[in-house]
Amino acid sequence: MHSIWESRQFHRTPDLVVVGAGIVGLFTALFHKRSHPNHHVVVVERGPFPSGASVKNAGFACFGSPSELLADLEKEGLDAMLARVENRWKGLLELRAELGDAAIGFEPSGGHEIYAAHDPLYTRVAERFDELNTALRPIFGRTVFVPDDEAIASFGLAGVHHLVRTELEGPVDSGALMAALLRKVLAEGVLFRPRTPVLSIEEQPHEVVLHLQDGERLRASNIAICTNGYTRQLLPDLPVEPARGQVLKTSPIPGLRLRGTFHYDEGFYYFRDHGGGVLLGGGRNLDIAGETTWDDATTPHIQQALEDLLRNVILPGQPFGIVQRWSGIMGMGASKTPIVERRSERVVVAVRLGGMGVAIGIRVARQAAGLIG
Ligand SMILES: Cc1cc2nc3c(=O)[nH]c(=O)nc-3n(C[C@H](O)[C@H](O)[C@H](O)COP(=O)(O)OP(=O)(O)OC[C@H]3O[C@@H](n4cnc5c(N)ncnc54)[C@H](O)[C@@H]3O)c2cc1C
Repeated sequence: MHSIWESRQFHRTPDLVVVGAGIVGLFTALFHKRSHPNHHVVVVERGPFPSGASVKNAGFACFGSPSELLADLEKEGLDAMLARVENRWKGLLELRAELGDAAIGFEPSGGHEIYAAHDPLYTRVAERFDELNTALRPIFGRTVFVPDDEAIASFGLAGVHHLVRTELEGPVDSGALMAALLRKVLAEGVLFRPRTPVLSIEEQPHEVVLHLQDGERLRASNIAICTNGYTRQLLPDLPVEPARGQVLKTSPIPGLRLRGTFHYDEGFYYFRDHGGGVLLGGGRNLDIAGETTWDDATTPHIQQALEDLLRNVILPGQPFGIVQRWSGIMGMGASKTPIVERRSERVVVAVRLGGMGVAIGIRVARQAAGLIG
């Protein structure tokens, strides 16, 4: 039994229900509401707050390391590589303009790729370095990557023989980013319904029915599914593999010299400074099958590999403690291109953001909002 007030405000049939309150879901709701101010837009989220990769990630505002871009160039050709970089770069600029650098904790402290001795990755990068910078210049209007081996010692790194740096990347505070985004979404009139797992979706001729817990049904005119790595729990036929990423954070390190974001070993490891300590993630390549999971857990094997990297490369000779460990679930597939499509007249999906959601989330959402009927 609802009162007329409840019926009008909270229980009227939404024009749009967005499933998933990650960066994509929240921006999709925001953009739809802006273009349809009279629409009733609801974001349903299974966690008590946003709970997916957007609040578990490493907070790199990055557009691709030299080795990744060259690998993409070789695999997909120059135009495809450039289009992807441009999309990521524009996404970062749009995100920073929409929420503000202070609100998202963006620090322009630079992005780095580091290479061990005799690293074949570096041989490839060195060979095509100028070619890469020349190709990127029209997008950025400047030289993007510079070799900076002298910085290796100043960051206190060991076993690293080469370093390439870009001034155009840096870390963000992913928690602050998502809190700012959620505040904005609520302020612009979107309803947020946490602790609401969607169990299944049923399309009917004139509406979509979302089946919730305890037999509850939520009817909507349109839905947008923004569940990223969890998508196959709702749409089993979509090619989105869950891909777990494990992370740890050290206690503050006295005199820490590390600044900025760092990629190592083809990006399988990534680390940055945070709060005077080091945040480090990666190691999925050690157990790809085991890390293809929805299980939000850490494993001793991968955590040990992360600690070894701290001890041998990032903080050589420095004592450290680990204050926190966690994992998050990405959505991946054979292609790095996200799936943003209209499944039917009333259902849009915007998923499979890979490891680049900070950069591309806002543009994926804009595209998704444009597809909603
Ligand atoms: C460890 C780690 C490190 C990363 N580091 C970076 C980085 O440094 N830079 C970068 O750009 N990207 C990084 N990423 C990737 C980035 O975080 C993601 O690409 C991005 O957050 C995806 O956003 P999303 O909104 O699509 O998904 P998510 O943030 O995962 O949001 C999906 C939401 O849907 C909810 N949900 C799922 N199923 C249901 C359901 N049935 N009912 C209701 N709600 C549901 C989930 O609870 C979740 O809140 C990292 C990811 C991980 C895991």
